[in-house]
Amino acid sequence: GPLLAIESSCDETACAILAPDGTVLAERLVSQEDHVAFGGVVPEIAARAHLALLPDLARKTLESSGLARSDLAAVAASTGPGLIGGLIVGASFGKGLAIALGKPFIAVNHIEAHALSARLPGVFDGHLTFPYLLLLVSGGHCQCLAVEGIGHYRRLGGTIDDAAGEAFDKVAKMLGLGWPGGPALERLAREGNPAAFALPRPLKGRAGCDFSFSGLKTAIARQLEPYGSAPLPRQVAADLAASFQQAVADVIEDRIIHALAMMERPTALVAAGGVAANATLRSRLTALAGSHGLPFVAPPLRLCTDNAVMVGWAALEICREAGRRSLPLPDNRAMRPRPRWPLAEMAERFGAV
Ligand code: ATP
Ligand code: MG
Ligand code: FE
Repeated sequence: GPLLAIESSCDETACAILAPDGTVLAERLVSQEDHVAFGGVVPEIAARAHLALLPDLARKTLESSGLARSDLAAVAASTGPGLIGGLIVGASFGKGLAIALGKPFIAVNHIEAHALSARLPGVFDGHLTFPYLLLLVSGGHCQCLAVEGIGHYRRLGGTIDDAAGEAFDKVAKMLGLGWPGGPALERLAREGNPAAFALPRPLKGRAGCDFSFSGLKTAIARQLEPYGSAPLPRQVAADLAASFQQAVADVIEDRIIHALAMMERPTALVAAGGVAANATLRSRLTALAGSHGLPFVAPPLRLCTDNAVMVGWAALEICREAGRRSLPLPDNRAMRPRPRWPLAEMAERFGAV
């Protein structure tokens, strides 16, 4: 039967109902606006907003699916990693509902959900098979994963300081743009010259596929010094935006080349996370994948950023994998939300480490 999925790990409150084959029967999402005035996600505010929004959102999602509560075969929720307050709200709500219905509760790792989202029916024509390379670039994450199977994720590298989206947001703020800054910075960059400023390419050429963005941020700050508190000329801001975006794309391209070399016969390059919406990055990654004879797969934006559909899909994949191994359906109602939940632990749920 169908499954209700909940996402509440950051600043999106979301519910989705999926049929066993992955068909989305209903979907509702609220991007919390309360954080805009603070220029970033405030954990305590996020937790309270999830609490205020979730019950009604779940009810409306069920309503628009045309199903009754008793039709649900399971409930799933992101239980980590993420902001603990929101995770507790989503997981407690999900567990409560599952217990009331007498159905299993499936705890989903939020990163695992991002990693598997590209396998949702309709995202990639032709079935996406393992192993593939996932670049996860969002406000809170920046890492490369070898997705080798359900429960089998090998971290190839990640950021040693800021996440990519975080860097976009910080630089956008320095340029006087609003939050979140990524989309605004990308728009401004269209008017700028990407070669106008010689910015560093942190870790480019270095072994492995770690990332670093804080040096870029510092370099931008240095370029801004001469202007002090005077308003920044629009062309300068546009040139800085374009140069920054170019540097980020250069670095990510270099890191992906290394990551691909760390894998045996990858089947595709997959990008997820809000930064994967960036057109410059997308076209660079498309060309790069092509030059390796691989398809580039980026889920549509609504599936790239935080959402409940990917949580439901990951839960379905986990159930199917349990079935393949003749294991009982997972029931994780005893599992506690975790702010950190390494992917390396995900194989444990199948008892095979
Ligand atoms: P998490 O990291 O937990 O997945 P998040 O809310 O931080 O959650 P997302 O919602 O996936 O991350 O993405 C938001 C981030 O993506 C923000 O940092 C935003 O600036 C960035 N972003 C969105 N659109 C673009 C774009 N066109 N170019 C660059 N960055 C972008
Ligand atoms: Mg978000
Ligand atoms: Fe996320």
